[in-house]
Amino acid sequence: MNTQGYLDLETQYGAHNYKPLDVVLNKGEGVWVWDVDGKKYLDCLSAYSAVNQGHCHPKIMQAMLSQARQLTLTSRAFRNDQLGPFYKELCELTRSHKVLPMNSGAEAVETAIKTVRKWGYQVKGVAENQAEIIVCANNFHGRTITIVGFSTDPTARTGFGPFTPGFKVIPFGDADALEAAIGPNTVGFLVEPIQGEAGVIIPPDGYLKNVRRICDQHNIVLILDEIQTGLGRTGRLLAEEHEGIEADLTLVGKALSGGFYPVSAVLSNKQVMDVLQPGEHGSTFGGNPLACAIARTAIRVLIEEKMIENAQDTGDYFLSGLRKIQSPHVKAVRGRGLMIAMELFPAAGGARPFCYRLADKGILCKETHEHTIRFAPPLVITKKEVDWALEQINAVMTA
Ligand SMILES: *Cc1c(COP(=O)(O)O)cnc(C)c1O
Repeated sequence: MNTQGYLDLETQYGAHNYKPLDVVLNKGEGVWVWDVDGKKYLDCLSAYSAVNQGHCHPKIMQAMLSQARQLTLTSRAFRNDQLGPFYKELCELTRSHKVLPMNSGAEAVETAIKTVRKWGYQVKGVAENQAEIIVCANNFHGRTITIVGFSTDPTARTGFGPFTPGFKVIPFGDADALEAAIGPNTVGFLVEPIQGEAGVIIPPDGYLKNVRRICDQHNIVLILDEIQTGLGRTGRLLAEEHEGIEADLTLVGKALSGGFYPVSAVLSNKQVMDVLQPGEHGSTFGGNPLACAIARTAIRVLIEEKMIENAQDTGDYFLSGLRKIQSPHVKAVRGRGLMIAMELFPAAGGARPFCYRLADKGILCKETHEHTIRFAPPLVITKKEVDWALEQINAVMTA
């Protein structure tokens, strides 16, 4: 079947809740993917940072295959021999005390919300059903009713109410706004260290440090959503390290499995997690042996193969190369590590046509909102590959 055949099938039988580029992929290796016509592309999205380790990483694949032959799912009614080692390795790596494993990122966010509410009632002493969580404008934390309920994106919200109460929205990057928003019932502050879906929005220097101090002063749980920024993307294992702070709850997902399987986790750094008792939360697939074996290897290769250092080095190199492009369309280039965005002037006519032109040249990117192109290749990209990418990007932006 050719590309059009696959597009027709999707149009006829699939829900239309996405607007993908019309590229049908059937193979991936490292930073490269191929479409059904055999055309090769550099993947500059990495499945929104789920394939930081590169497509079909051989060691993760091997771990998946051998675990799949052995045991895949027990449910949490019984124990399995991958879960304990997964907990220990992830805690040691991230200096956490406790882990709660889930599957999707949205489930990790929901888990954190439940945990922090319970902590508010049991430990902080907030009156029943009064707990409040502060979040930021232009956030992206997933797609459940509760999560879209505190989104400020009309496309994400409209038509899906009524929503879960108990959330207050403040501007991102403004520590004073956090302090002003805190009340006696505030139990947590949920924030992305860098807002990814909003267009790689980097807060002012010192923001997270101030946020950490304010949360400590007011006895509020700091929840960092590192589902996109975490696991090497920004040139650190966790983006919080750029400011030398530690969250109380850290959410990871996406690259936790290197793209092989949905695996997410809530990492707890205070005794917040201890408020959860048997039966109060769970997931049939959460913490299954296949997920744990995959995740153990996915985090091991991230460290062993120095992908985090490469994200920093090659990210700096990519960013400075992009900044040298002289184009009338480019309003701003920003990034940290290999989480990079190029924002276009509205007069450029939107980012999507540029994404198609880049695809013609062999680079796969996706617009975020109207005017921003994100460059976030797998963390195994080399400077030589970046040089090639810069040539293509330059040609498209200056045509
Ligand atoms: C992708 C993402 C999520 C949601 O993850 P899913 O696996 O799609 O549910 C949550 N937060 C951030 C910051 C993300 O980038």
